[in-house]
Amino acid sequence: MKRKLRMGMVGGGPGAFIGEVHRKAARLDGRIEIVAGAFDIDPVKSRQTGNELCLSPSRVYGNYKDMINGELALGSEKIDFVSVTTPNNWHFPIAKDFLEAGFNVMCEKPMTMTLDEALELRKIVEKSGKVFGLMHNYTGYPMVKLARDLARSGDLGEIYKIVAQYPQGWLVKPIEREGQQQAAWRTDPKQSGAAGCIGDIGTHAENLAEYITGLKISEICADLSTFIKGRALDDDGNCLLRFENGAKGVLHASQISIGEENNLAIWVYGSKMSIEWHQEEPNHLLVKPFGLPAQIWKRGNDYVSKKSPAAARCTRIPCGHPEAFLEAFANNYMNFADTISKLMDGASPSEIENDFPKVSDGVRGMAFIETVVKSSKSSEKWVKFPAL
Ligand code: NAD
Repeated sequence: MKRKLRMGMVGGGPGAFIGEVHRKAARLDGRIEIVAGAFDIDPVKSRQTGNELCLSPSRVYGNYKDMINGELALGSEKIDFVSVTTPNNWHFPIAKDFLEAGFNVMCEKPMTMTLDEALELRKIVEKSGKVFGLMHNYTGYPMVKLARDLARSGDLGEIYKIVAQYPQGWLVKPIEREGQQQAAWRTDPKQSGAAGCIGDIGTHAENLAEYITGLKISEICADLSTFIKGRALDDDGNCLLRFENGAKGVLHASQISIGEENNLAIWVYGSKMSIEWHQEEPNHLLVKPFGLPAQIWKRGNDYVSKKSPAAARCTRIPCGHPEAFLEAFANNYMNFADTISKLMDGASPSEIENDFPKVSDGVRGMAFIETVVKSSKSSEKWVKFPAL
């Protein structure tokens, strides 16, 4: 590719959280430019964001359907992909319409509102032949890729147990009733889906556990709670997990745990070695071999690159200069964009380029949500993951 990829965005208007993170991350390597968008549910606010981004007014749209038509009318100048950064209820219709119009899509998680929609979207992606990325950003961290490569190469031995957590404390008060934008839609089943906390952040822990270990969850025993009176969805969830290989797991997520910010962390216990990673200290991976002192492996060192070329590829600056949240998003964008570019050139992306979450991760995420909700409501408790 001799030019930058052209990005469009739906969502990410004034006061929005994650749209701006996507825009910054996508542009980090200088190979993607943002040229178009329908940035807000309110067309006036969409124009405000387009203006702030210095976009051509003709490429700033009042809604996503006009954006599809407007971009298609531009022929070879149209966007190469769209990023969907709206609340959950809009992901499916927007992703579907862009894919069916022939655009590549990067979509926020959870992928859809229901498992049925997720399965339909998988069919649409397959039929379209387009590239679909899902922004499970935590898989973009170099030390997560190292953890995955340690597990994959057998250094951990047989995996016995996985503990994954994602506690936050920001919803311990009913701030949705004061109109706090991010809280309002996350606690509304019509915009968030069947689950609150477990869908919003539990899915990140689920995706991380499966990505690092390569194991698939097969059964769940879950207990969801709504601690804030009057809230319609869970704000805390505790799950026991069984994996296909016989490994066991514990996963908990919370948005009412005072003092916790984004305390996503994972422990993987194997027969030879254990590993531990914390999102709030993402440049380190704790490696604990049996019978030896615990080690801290640090991002950017040669011993990391040798063990994990994927981690090396996702490292931009030397060890000791921290990389974190924005870079992890940028890594998913880098691999997503390189995959699109290769396909546009008639070539095939390498395995290391093709390493970003996809529609299959979104299907598993929606199956996780539905299985957790079903288990929590059931008195039998253990519920099998559906066949996908
Ligand atoms: P937000 O409320 O801050 O922003 C949503 C934006 O989408 C707003 O500007 C809103 O006007 C716009 N919007 C809504 N419907 C639209 C439509 N039909 N067309 C155009 N724009 C529309 O929400 P947020 O916190 O940024 O979350 C957005 C999505 O990102 C959610 O799906 C959430 O789960 C996900 N998210 C992911 C991460 C992550 O770490 N990967 C973090 C935060 C949020």
